[in-house]
Amino acid sequence: MGLKRPVIFLGPPGAGKGTQAKRLAARYGVPHLSTGDMLREHVRQGTELGRKAKPLMDHGDLVPDDVVLGMIEERITRPDAAGGFVFDGFPRTLPQAEKLDEILKRRHVAAPVVVNFHVSNDTLVRRVAGRRVCKVGGEIYNVYEKPPKVDGRCDHDGGELIQRSDDNADVVRDRLAAFEKQTQPLIDYYRTQGNLDDVDGSSSMDEVSRLLTQIVARHGADGDRS
Ligand code: AMP
Repeated sequence: MGLKRPVIFLGPPGAGKGTQAKRLAARYGVPHLSTGDMLREHVRQGTELGRKAKPLMDHGDLVPDDVVLGMIEERITRPDAAGGFVFDGFPRTLPQAEKLDEILKRRHVAAPVVVNFHVSNDTLVRRVAGRRVCKVGGEIYNVYEKPPKVDGRCDHDGGELIQRSDDNADVVRDRLAAFEKQTQPLIDYYRTQGNLDDVDGSSSMDEVSRLLTQIVARHGADGDRS
């Protein structure tokens, strides 16, 4: 159990990052840290941070780096993150990646392992349009690829399945544009460091999970943190 190195998933919306990050985190018994989920929780609770983030998220724009970095630094210092963690949707910009490196060094945490998900645009559109999320536990479904047993209800806790407000065609276009402009440069950043592996995100969920376990092992990230 535990992860010796943090794992980062890069890829466009709908690539399967959330589903795979949850699976990988559960496999190694570490927290799954999704900045999107954290921000949506702030919006739901109506905090000041949530009120500022909401209009940006509604338009598919990124939230300012310092906001996201503050949330992440606070989160990784909690006791449950001592055995490692999986990032989902973070970092999204070069300054976020550079600042993350500083934070990890300061905390004596090893450099991250980065997985770059490739998925065709057709698949992305279908994944995003079909995505449903459990209102209670956050479990992710897809009406085409991974439907729940009972329509509109989570298999695990019976929670209502809802569609994210930013999962509509207009906003997805803007989210894809933000990805291409702001997140693509991270691929070069991490590739140059030798920490990046590519994965075909259009393979089946189980196949992607299998590849991810191999990548984690190859980079010496599996097992307890020393
Ligand atoms: P996600 O759930 O990862 O698709 O994120 C949903 C929305 O939250 C994004 O479209 C952004 O508006 C915001 N967001 C999530 N993570 C970040 C991040 N690392 N940096 C900036 N904005 C983010």
